[in-house]
Amino acid sequence: MGVGCTMALNDVIVLMYADLTPKQISDWTAVIDHFCPDNKGEDSDYKYWGANRAWRAMVHAVRAIVGNNDEKLQLSRDGLSDLSDGHNGKRSLFKYVTTGDGFYEDGSFIQHFATAYTGGYGKALLGCIADVLYILHDTPFEVKDPESAHVYDWVYNAFAPLIYKHGEFMDMVRGREISRHGVTDVKAGITAIAAIIRLSQLAPQLHRQRLQSMVKYWLSHIENFYSNVSVEMIYLAKNIMQDAFIKPMEEPVLNKVFAGMDRAVHLRKGWGFGISMNSARQSYYETHTFNYENGKGYYTAEGMTYLYLSDPKQYSDAFWPTVNSSRLPGTTEDAGLVRGDASGYSWNPLTYSSKTWVGGASDGVHGVVGMEQDAWGATLTSKKSWFLFDDEVVCLGAGITSTDNRPIHTLIENRKLNKRGDNKLTVDGRTDTSAASETQTFKVPEWMHLAGTAAGSDIGYYFPDSGNVKALREKRSGKWSAINRYNFPASDPTYTNYFQELYLDHGANPTNAMYAYVLLLNKSIAGVKEYAAKPDIIIIENSENVQAVKESKINTMGINFWKDTITTVSVNNKKAYITSNKKAGVLLTQKGSQLTVAVSDPTQINTEAISIEIKQSAAGIINADKEIIVEQLSPTLKLKVRTDKTYGKSLKASFRIKTTNPV
Ligand code: CA
Repeated sequence: MGVGCTMALNDVIVLMYADLTPKQISDWTAVIDHFCPDNKGEDSDYKYWGANRAWRAMVHAVRAIVGNNDEKLQLSRDGLSDLSDGHNGKRSLFKYVTTGDGFYEDGSFIQHFATAYTGGYGKALLGCIADVLYILHDTPFEVKDPESAHVYDWVYNAFAPLIYKHGEFMDMVRGREISRHGVTDVKAGITAIAAIIRLSQLAPQLHRQRLQSMVKYWLSHIENFYSNVSVEMIYLAKNIMQDAFIKPMEEPVLNKVFAGMDRAVHLRKGWGFGISMNSARQSYYETHTFNYENGKGYYTAEGMTYLYLSDPKQYSDAFWPTVNSSRLPGTTEDAGLVRGDASGYSWNPLTYSSKTWVGGASDGVHGVVGMEQDAWGATLTSKKSWFLFDDEVVCLGAGITSTDNRPIHTLIENRKLNKRGDNKLTVDGRTDTSAASETQTFKVPEWMHLAGTAAGSDIGYYFPDSGNVKALREKRSGKWSAINRYNFPASDPTYTNYFQELYLDHGANPTNAMYAYVLLLNKSIAGVKEYAAKPDIIIIENSENVQAVKESKINTMGINFWKDTITTVSVNNKKAYITSNKKAGVLLTQKGSQLTVAVSDPTQINTEAISIEIKQSAAGIINADKEIIVEQLSPTLKLKVRTDKTYGKSLKASFRIKTTNPV
């Protein structure tokens, strides 16, 4: 019997309160006190973290009310923040962490040491904290810890960027919960949104307006919010929807690298893109040999890319039991490696990649992301980069090397199709009508277009490098019990879905193989053809030293420097343009006469600095983060970026430049 049972017993007392004798109430609350004792002292509630501690605070609060006990209300308050009980906030749940479990300042949320869990334990924690804060609000036991205001930052920085338009809480931050049949991404989103509604009830006015406006945005696009929440929540949500003074938030446009959990998100009007990675800090995936939940999640953080369009069921509707677990979109994999359930999972013993260069640089709107890959159970290594621009995502791979004598593939796509599996695939203007169930090879295509399942969910692919692309349209069947031996439907039915695979075959034992493809979103067949004829992007370099791409329309350039040696990138007829002396992610954006530079240390282990030189003279500094020392403005721009204790954060500076010639 643990905290879950005491919560349920509390609920029973509340529901039956009028019919219970005082003795029954005191007997039952004594049971609660026995199984959920106080939280004073090192060995009590304080040994629990995250949602586990918030749940205890909830037990104390409800038990206090039914038993009319002030002391328990204090315990509830101090369970969230120990500011009032002599611990000086040392163990406050509101505090940001820089390692291990909890919320990070950059919006990351980790549970179980090394797994991204914003959409799992994170949402449970938010919901419980919101309820307890609400109960204690406007009482003598109100939480006064100034850091409790962090809950609003969590909503803006940790939750909102990862909840897509129709309520999809992105699967890349749901850990092993993706393998639970009843908890779809939209249901997870609805739970989080309900918590945000609860918070809005106690929030100061400015936060309340912002929270309600976000809620109104999501609720305008979610199909079935009201059938998944309590009657009280229906009432609260309808009040927000019917209040003409609350304007729905505009569809967000943002780029964010969650360095604390090796995830990145890129939101545009009409689409959202997620990148899920692993490193020496972040697990390959989470399962457990006790229950085998998510037992085949092997590649879900191996550079898997998640694409959200106007089809809200892409990752539900039995996506996970039917998709080929070894061939997830965005990944470069040893296609011949046979994996056993739970192989390479995160705990016991802790299993990590050996690579630290995982992260990227972002200016908040565009970004560049990279992952140095160290495949589990194979010799495969590679360097993968994603350039997140306005209407495209450029995907590069280099240094793809393996000596296991097995074929290495890069999965450009593995998209769930409509129920007939007849989404049209167009290759260089020709419709592929074969809907081949066997792998076919397209010789050096320039572009492809895959019709979506709903209007507004088409995907375009542009191939800047000549090379063959293989395609497989596959009808696949599977059961939830195959990916989760603990949580599956009682009847355990077999589900069937069609998938479109597009992939690059690097052959067996590749040495420094590479790839390049560009995802084009919300474009018609004609739009993709037009882009391929006149692309916005130029690949400046794609090697194991540097991966760099420039987007000419928005004047943005991303550069991933992979080595701790002085490395120069040349653009415009081989003229040296930017040099870094250390591993770094760099994003340059020029708007008129303003140049913005964002630099990060993705390794998070550079305790000194990165020296950057840009062949561009500047007239002045507009603004600069304190970690950026401007050593020279002219004739070249020289920056020293101090990276110690910046935890992969993008450090930014803007300059007035003398020339308006584009980067
Ligand atoms: Ca573009």
